[in-house]
Amino acid sequence: MTKAEDRILVQEHLAHAAEPKQLSADEKTWLESRIKAVLKEKDAVLVAHYYTDPDIQRLAEETGGCVADSLEMARFGNQHPASTVVVAGVRFMGETAKILNPEKRILMPTLEATCSLDVGCPPDEFEAFCNEHSDRTVVVYANTSAAVKARADWVVTSSCAQAIIEDLDARGEKILWAPDKHLGHYVQKTTGADMLLWDGSCIVHEEFKYRGLEDLKALYPEAAVLVHPESPDAVVEMADVVGSTSQLIHAVQTLPNQEFIVATDNGIFYKMQQLAPNKTLIEAPTAGDGATCRSCAQCPWMAMNGLKNLLHVLEHGDQEVLVGPDTREAALKPLRRMLDFTSGMNLKAAGNA
Ligand code: SF4
Repeated sequence: MTKAEDRILVQEHLAHAAEPKQLSADEKTWLESRIKAVLKEKDAVLVAHYYTDPDIQRLAEETGGCVADSLEMARFGNQHPASTVVVAGVRFMGETAKILNPEKRILMPTLEATCSLDVGCPPDEFEAFCNEHSDRTVVVYANTSAAVKARADWVVTSSCAQAIIEDLDARGEKILWAPDKHLGHYVQKTTGADMLLWDGSCIVHEEFKYRGLEDLKALYPEAAVLVHPESPDAVVEMADVVGSTSQLIHAVQTLPNQEFIVATDNGIFYKMQQLAPNKTLIEAPTAGDGATCRSCAQCPWMAMNGLKNLLHVLEHGDQEVLVGPDTREAALKPLRRMLDFTSGMNLKAAGNA
């Protein structure tokens, strides 16, 4: 096992140990009404990722916040007038919000919620990798620490990666890509760009399996297969649509199919079902048999966000995201490049295989 795999396993274990406990209906009702009141009192807005618990997504919508992918979360937090932004997601999302909004207080239900892509790309090792290949333009996925972003020329999300790499390739630039090798491989294949890939992966998407998907497709031959490009190549090859979370949600709304096999974190089903209530959604098969979160298409770090720790942080403000000024200044440049590049792009239409 490599050092990176070791670190990821430790973090994953800690995440499972810290998962919020099931709440009774009365507890939920009380917590939700209290959170709504404290959000107002503290001039705070809740921004949640599609992979968080449906209770949190609903609360974000009901209180004037937003539920979105990481690119839209960053944009929303940037434009909203609230002085405090509560980011329900994983740490790199909180850091991105802080980099874009240094004057705002950025809170998270827990700062321990990380991401295997972030853990698998330590800043010192990444710096050395970049220095070895200094002739390449450094493009990093949003799922990285602020320190890794600070070393990059560009930040991308899965909604805009293809368009940005195409543009860089057209300008003759050679790319150093980190950290997700599957997304990198997919973009490399679709754009033909010269890309050197860091060896990182998402532990959730990596579990989707081609064989199981083939069997499921035989059971539901009319179903469209929707795949997030963090999944392995053989799974991506079977997709009718490959795209970011927003692009997959858009596909459920707009494709004529009645059934969809979905290969991404199952937290996304809340929004898909809300926007397309008559469609049938089927979870793509994973490697496990139900005993662990790795086998149920659910990110253990996203699952650390619960109603109790959300209320706690709103009342106590103790899980505040801080980014040092030098790191912030350096990380802001590649982030701004991405936001400027994507402003006005119709990202929902992009990414279809
Ligand atoms: S689902 Fe994968 S990429 Fe997303 S936060 Fe979890 S580990 Fe990271």
